Amino acid sequence: MIRTYQHWINGREHGGTTGEPHTRHSPAHGEVLARFAAGTAADVDAAVTVARRVFEDASTWATLPGSRKAALLNAWAALIERDVTRLAEIEAEEVGKPIRYARGEIEWSVELLRYAASLAWQLEGRAMTQLGDDKLGLVTREPRGVVGIVVPWNYPMVTLFQKLPYALAAGCTVVIKPSELTSGTALEVTVLAKEAGIPDGVINVVTGLGETVGEALSTHPGVDMLSFTGSTRVGKRIARNAADSLKRVSLELGGKSANIVFADADIDSALDGALFGVVLNQGEECISPARLLVEKPIAETFVKQLVERARKVAVGMPLDEKSDVGAMIHEAHMERVLELIASGSKEGARLELGGSRVTTAGLDRGFFVPVTIFSGVDPAMRIFREEIFGPVLAVTTFETVEEAIQLANDTSYGLANGLWTKDVDKALKVSRRLRSGTVFVNTYFESAPQMPFGGYKESGLGRENGLEGLLEFTEVKSTLLKLGTRDAALPLATSVT
Ligand code: NAD
Repeated sequence: MIRTYQHWINGREHGGTTGEPHTRHSPAHGEVLARFAAGTAADVDAAVTVARRVFEDASTWATLPGSRKAALLNAWAALIERDVTRLAEIEAEEVGKPIRYARGEIEWSVELLRYAASLAWQLEGRAMTQLGDDKLGLVTREPRGVVGIVVPWNYPMVTLFQKLPYALAAGCTVVIKPSELTSGTALEVTVLAKEAGIPDGVINVVTGLGETVGEALSTHPGVDMLSFTGSTRVGKRIARNAADSLKRVSLELGGKSANIVFADADIDSALDGALFGVVLNQGEECISPARLLVEKPIAETFVKQLVERARKVAVGMPLDEKSDVGAMIHEAHMERVLELIASGSKEGARLELGGSRVTTAGLDRGFFVPVTIFSGVDPAMRIFREEIFGPVLAVTTFETVEEAIQLANDTSYGLANGLWTKDVDKALKVSRRLRSGTVFVNTYFESAPQMPFGGYKESGLGRENGLEGLLEFTEVKSTLLKLGTRDAALPLATSVT
């Protein structure tokens, strides 16, 4: 059955201003999956007007007690949890990712939502009592206002839930623009938010293209903050757009993470970590550790064992429980991944596994790329430098700790890195020197909602998750109270005491 959606504005479906929908074909078999409304600047304006009205009418949401917001967010979490199976199927089909991981994604989004709900209780300020005995200072946090949220296609739910519940817990109202390729789950969960009792107009969704809907959101004077996840190229454009009105921006952008394997690591775990790093979400993963740096004495054996394990990875249909790697998001992206693979061979890296499109019967109508491993990768090569966003691993060797750090930091990105060693001293010393927002030690991808996430360098601005993730959606207000009116003369010539 083809799913058909409209925009969602003020707690109900909104037909929009154009009749032509955006059609999503399955990247795994080509059939039509869904039709989304193709939004315009006028639709964005309608949604922002509602979000602004509801924000200004503060008792609807902004000033609702934290305990009440938390109760509503938790009720919403329960409904999403109830519908995990249905939502995971939509996510798997639209993205092309294996259903097992899609389920994990929805469950993780529920965790994020519950954690953000807990923060709604405790948005605290400070009292300044050292200003003299006739004054009291209050430093309080207030919601930023109307937040535009623009998210990509690789993790439609997680990228949304690293923002949305925190914005709501802070008291903001929102207009969401999901990716035009994967808008299904954002619209489905917004309907569940209404069922949970979250007031109409607090969450609005306008679907459509980045150049129209995304652009209109990032330039709209009624939007106070734009929270974006996507490519560094578009992130920079959004920051430039936002500069005109000094809109606040938070940016979660691209990455080129490294996994560093020292010779004293637990080799079995490091092999799993290195492989899972490019298998998860078929490498369409902002923190994918697509560069593997291995200490020279163990490198040859390590790569051999890695290739043996990688041969067992199952490329398959998204809804097949046995699939490890699904389809690339669309044909043009698959072509780009294949072109980067070709550049690796051309520039002299050794192709150890994979390398060409999967065309076996049953998968030949989809955009499937197998796990591809290159060894002998030089830092000057494109596969070392560019974000590939596919299941492609580039292996480089190093001889000293210093060289490992230098190689890992040799990128314009700074989202995450991993390192594998049994020496805790070495782990902490190397971790301090890595220029990335996250460092994994003897693991990769594991996380906790309490831990902030974000990028150094061109991987972003600001943080999501943790207390920091909540504070992004707040402004700081200083209120100074003069105590005792009799002596409270202002130093004006005309003042009367
Ligand atoms: P993208 O930048 O092409 O698109 C992201 C979103 O921005 C989409 O909704 C798109 O429609 C919209 N958009 C496009 N042009 C726009 C414009 N001019 N104004 C406003 N919005 C616009 O990225 P993508 O291809 O969807 O996703 C892949 C990228 O996302 C990768 O670079 C990946 O690393 C990054 N990513 C980062 C994180 C993170 O947390 N740092 C997480 C997931 C993905």
